[in-house]
Amino acid sequence: MQLVGPFSGLESFVRENEPLAPHTWYRIGGPAKWFVQPRSVEELKDAAIRCVENGIQIYVLGLGANLLVGDDGVNGAVFRLDADHWKTAEINGINVEVGAGADMQKLVLKTVRAGLAGVECLAGIPGTIGGGIRMNAGGKFGDLGAVVTRVTVMAADGTIFDRTKDDLVFDYRSTNISAPFILGATLELDEEDPDRIMKRTKEIWMYKRNTQPLNAKNCGCIFKNPRGLSAGALIDQAGLKGMVIGGAEVSTKHANFIIAHPGCKADDVMRLVKIIREKVWEKNQIHLESEVKVWA
Ligand SMILES: Cc1cc2nc3c(=O)[nH]c(=O)nc-3n(C[C@H](O)[C@H](O)[C@H](O)COP(=O)(O)OP(=O)(O)OC[C@H]3O[C@@H](n4cnc5c(N)ncnc54)[C@H](O)[C@@H]3O)c2cc1C
Repeated sequence: MQLVGPFSGLESFVRENEPLAPHTWYRIGGPAKWFVQPRSVEELKDAAIRCVENGIQIYVLGLGANLLVGDDGVNGAVFRLDADHWKTAEINGINVEVGAGADMQKLVLKTVRAGLAGVECLAGIPGTIGGGIRMNAGGKFGDLGAVVTRVTVMAADGTIFDRTKDDLVFDYRSTNISAPFILGATLELDEEDPDRIMKRTKEIWMYKRNTQPLNAKNCGCIFKNPRGLSAGALIDQAGLKGMVIGGAEVSTKHANFIIAHPGCKADDVMRLVKIIREKVWEKNQIHLESEVKVWA
């Protein structure tokens, strides 16, 4: 369809009023005013510059596995790097050059089969490399940041540059990358017997399957663990496991997960988040900080 306005002429990769729910793990939330799926760096630059020129807020979406989109959606441009160009993963010795749109689970399998260890800690964590780097995805078995030696990023004005290991900081579910677009990265892995890495990968996957509600609609952990404590245990101790608001429920398997049942609204999840924060504060005087990114 012909677009008029800020993205006119870019209709081959920009859509207006795109529902975001199908693009997120939660499957809830409203539409994006603009939805941009560039197939090349040039298209990405073109659309980003249009955003800057027209004062349109930029959002970047991976697999939406750590995301809660509000029911009214997003009044801005949501970029998704899911064209083939962004999904490459090339192994050169112990280094892997990987695009931001590459699926973390596929990368785990590919590297394990190649006898390269270092990303098996991501087994069972849904997402793209871009989202994984932004969030420093991981857990008790390690995190993605530990193997990243270079990240290529793009500023909103289209300037592309590399951030290298010496100036990158990966912390608990965060990084010091401020550029809006992560385009790709180099990972440095370790050679190891593929069977041994596969065994470890399966153990990590089993651990996650046994402790997290992987088959229900959710967005991973809602809150960060505060000061070495477990947010899930604090929520459990406040007696909130199984609590239901509308279609949202505190998981009975892991209290730091909120499940979205059929008909659930983003607002149900947000109300439950507010109640959890209040109750945990009342009981322990601990403020729970969001891990999930909220676009509302
Ligand atoms: C069942 C389940 C289990 C989970 N378990 C874990 C776990 O054990 N450990 C863990 O760390 N996480 C976990 N998560 C959360 C999630 O998997 C990770 O945070 C993952 O890294 C999100 O990646 P994504 O591509 O889906 O990012 P999204 O959710 O789409 O986005 C997350 C953030 O990254 C930004 N982003 C995404 N792509 C780019 C890009 N190319 N450039 C710039 N910014 C970008 C977004 O703007 C947003 O701020 C879990 C989620 C689920 C649903």
